[in-house]
Amino acid sequence: MKKIQNYINGEFRDPISDDWLENYDPSTGEVYSKIPNSSMDDVELAYRSAEAAFESWSNTTLEKRSGILMKIASLIDEQLDRLAAAESKDNGKPLSLAISVDIPRASSNFRFFAHAITQFSTEAHESIGLNTMNFTLRQPLGVVGCISPWNLPLYLFTWKIAPALAAGNTVVAKPSEVTPMTAFLLGEICNEAGLPKGVLNIVHGMGPSTGHSIVSHPNIKAISFTGGTKTGEHIAKIAAPMFKKLSLELGGKNPNIIFADCNYDKMLAVTLKSSFANQGQICLCGSRIFVERPLYNKFKEDLVHKTKELKVGDPFDAKTNIGALVSKSHLEKVQSYIDLAKEEGGTILCGGNRVIVDGFEEGYYLEPTVIEVPNDLCRVNQEEIFGPVVTIMAFDTEEEVLKMANSVKYGLSATLWTENINRTMRISKKLEAGIVWVNTWLNRDLRTPFGGMKNSGVGREGGFEALKFFTEPKNICIRYD
Ligand code: NAD
Repeated sequence: MKKIQNYINGEFRDPISDDWLENYDPSTGEVYSKIPNSSMDDVELAYRSAEAAFESWSNTTLEKRSGILMKIASLIDEQLDRLAAAESKDNGKPLSLAISVDIPRASSNFRFFAHAITQFSTEAHESIGLNTMNFTLRQPLGVVGCISPWNLPLYLFTWKIAPALAAGNTVVAKPSEVTPMTAFLLGEICNEAGLPKGVLNIVHGMGPSTGHSIVSHPNIKAISFTGGTKTGEHIAKIAAPMFKKLSLELGGKNPNIIFADCNYDKMLAVTLKSSFANQGQICLCGSRIFVERPLYNKFKEDLVHKTKELKVGDPFDAKTNIGALVSKSHLEKVQSYIDLAKEEGGTILCGGNRVIVDGFEEGYYLEPTVIEVPNDLCRVNQEEIFGPVVTIMAFDTEEEVLKMANSVKYGLSATLWTENINRTMRISKKLEAGIVWVNTWLNRDLRTPFGGMKNSGVGREGGFEALKFFTEPKNICIRYD
């Protein structure tokens, strides 16, 4: 059986305790590899190698640093098919999605921050009349921790690592224990690209043990975390008394607001994606759909019709639209919300059942599900389900839909469909969300600030925001005569 190992000081190592976890293929429900159940000792080893590498890496010229990151990006591109196949097998997502989105974005992350660091500038403030000149240094923090989730494994892992490395930090990183494979393969790529030993260290294992050891390590200066809101809350409690810098990208329950004046065909096609892409396991999915009443019945009929046409099955089959959910426990959690919807008076308009796929009988497949909810405050409309499940409801006025859109504890993203520019501005300004997409969804420019309001997170990543997070500003004030 394939053994995934930790990547520490440029070498692949078994966990010190020789303790291993099982890694499942969600499409078959079978264990297909083992991963280290790393302890505090492994994290300490990773930390020490990162610390030893810091002095040299932080003093490496931008040209050289950037060149190595560009090389990593190119190698990811060259290994697109291999990495996409590994991602699909590990996560259950359609291979076509891993080929078109996950892996290209991982290489873009490295390429983007390789460029960004060469354009990153600091400020100078001359105190006129006082004969002093201030300028700001932006220095790397030291050893930083990056912890990522399972839904977009290599995509989100590299979204943190690339800016951290570009800014001159050295890194101890942990991918999700549910999807460790592509992070493991990234270690090989880093060696091939000539990344010096110890600059990036990847430890595998469970959140409450391995992840906790990273967060609570006294000398790891900052934590960039993407994952669930509850985990984020826990991490904040540990990191705050240690005064660590924290970036938290957490859960979402995003509204998709559809006005009757929208471009209907475009909206319907994109709404199908924003509802079910990656089995609905994207923090940005528009899982609460609000439709202006004159359009409601037509939309309901068309969405249900289109949803029923989606093909659920083998992630490696080119015709598959919906692959497997990531794990058995996650499938059960999503199913429990479908049961709850019925108890709360919701109507399952389509889907709702587990799918038994020929030849993959033990895989974690679920029909894409549309639920008509009686009110926006029911739990299925308030809590993050994170699966191929959307709710729909009608609304009458802007005020009403804004109130419903903002009624959740989350504030990650929102989508708005209207051709009216005045309404676009009125509503966008009032939506409690870090990102508002108008007449589009998941359109990403890596220069833009990315993150959430309310319980969806703290801080912003992306563009120079990420480089600011991974550096410490220091003002130097010089008096001259
Ligand atoms: P999770 O919080 O369970 O795990 C995320 C990572 O944190 C994993 O690597 C896990 O091992 C680790 N972890 C868990 N407990 C920990 C602890 N006590 N200390 C340190 N690390 C710990 O999340 P998940 O189930 O992997 O991912 C799904 C969640 O991620 C959803 O809520 C989704 O909305 C969110 N998400 C948010 C964004 C965003 O950009 N805002 C993007 C993707 C996913």
